Amino acid sequence: MKSNEKDIRICPKCNKPYIGHPALSRSDNITPICPDCGTREALDSIGVTAEEQDKILDTIHRCYKQ
Ligand SMILES: [Zn+2]
Repeated sequence: MKSNEKDIRICPKCNKPYIGHPALSRSDNITPICPDCGTREALDSIGVTAEEQDKILDTIHRCYKQ
């Protein structure tokens, strides 16, 4: 594993620290945001409600937990 895989970044959208590869904000395609916010933005763009987004993210988190 490369050391930059473990870099802690702060997401400008939710202000939470995250580790690993950032997602790019759809608003400008430059700003790195956390994977959760990236997922939210993608779901938002296809009309998924905030409530559904929470459920989907919850499912994603469960899948990644080992
Ligand atoms: Zn975020």
